[in-house]
Amino acid sequence: MAEKPSILVTGGASGIGRAIVGAVLRQGWRAVVADLDHDSLDRFANELEAHAGELRFERLDVTDEAAVERCLEQCGAVTGVVNSAGIGRNYPALETPVAEFRRVLEINLLGSFIVARAAARAIGRRGGEGGSIVNISSISGQSGNMNRVAYGASKGGIDTMTRVLATEWAPLGIRVNAIAPGPIATPMAQAMHSDAVKAAWARTVPMARYGRPEEIAELALFLLDPGRSGYITGQIVAVDGGFSAAGIFEPTIDRF
Ligand code: NAP
Repeated sequence: MAEKPSILVTGGASGIGRAIVGAVLRQGWRAVVADLDHDSLDRFANELEAHAGELRFERLDVTDEAAVERCLEQCGAVTGVVNSAGIGRNYPALETPVAEFRRVLEINLLGSFIVARAAARAIGRRGGEGGSIVNISSISGQSGNMNRVAYGASKGGIDTMTRVLATEWAPLGIRVNAIAPGPIATPMAQAMHSDAVKAAWARTVPMARYGRPEEIAELALFLLDPGRSGYITGQIVAVDGGFSAAGIFEPTIDRF
């Protein structure tokens, strides 16, 4: 019998990553939960005790190249990766410290690259089956959302990287796609979004609400599953309540 798929989720103990781990387990697959913080990993491990046989927890900093390579060598046969680890920073461009810009690029963009490359190497070493990599980008990588010069640049970089890796790794059977979420109700959004920012999203997202992490997880699962998305690679798919589709936007219908 074929081995169950095994999915490494970075940033897997919080927010979108955590919802993806839940969806992977509900699908009957295995998950490797990688995150920075011991305590949040421990708390999540306790909650998921019932699935202990299908899970592995790794304390991992995605910017630590050697640790990431080691993790991919030791975590068993990983068939898919979700790069959800990330940080957000809101500063006007004129006040953005270069050190903060560097840190955002280091974690969001380079971290995703380091993990994707280590996964592709590990999948390549095993030969045969191929795999799927899903990068969590953002609609801030596609438009000039104010105060996000570093964050937006990191996510725009992820979109381009996704297309390059998809092209280079297609012959290896490794598909690479990205999800571009709009505002999603997670600890990160909670910490970053002031009341004014929340009101701005409510005005500019046609569906006038935050998305749920589970709504990202469903698409991640689809993109990880070769049976459902085996011919899709190099795509950036928005899950954003219509934000990226909208032009001039004036709600004219209160409700049906
Ligand atoms: P979250 O709840 O803060 O989850 C992110 C996780 O990544 C946290 O557990 C964080 O740990 C971890 N992390 C940070 N730096 C790391 C590193 N160097 N190595 C490993 N793990 C690290 O945020 P989220 O909202 O779920 O965000 C997940 C992804 O979705 C991010 O890439 C984010 O940019 C993207 N996204 C989010 C939204 C949104 O509205 N929420 C919208 C678009 C895109 P600590 O908590 O210990 O820092």
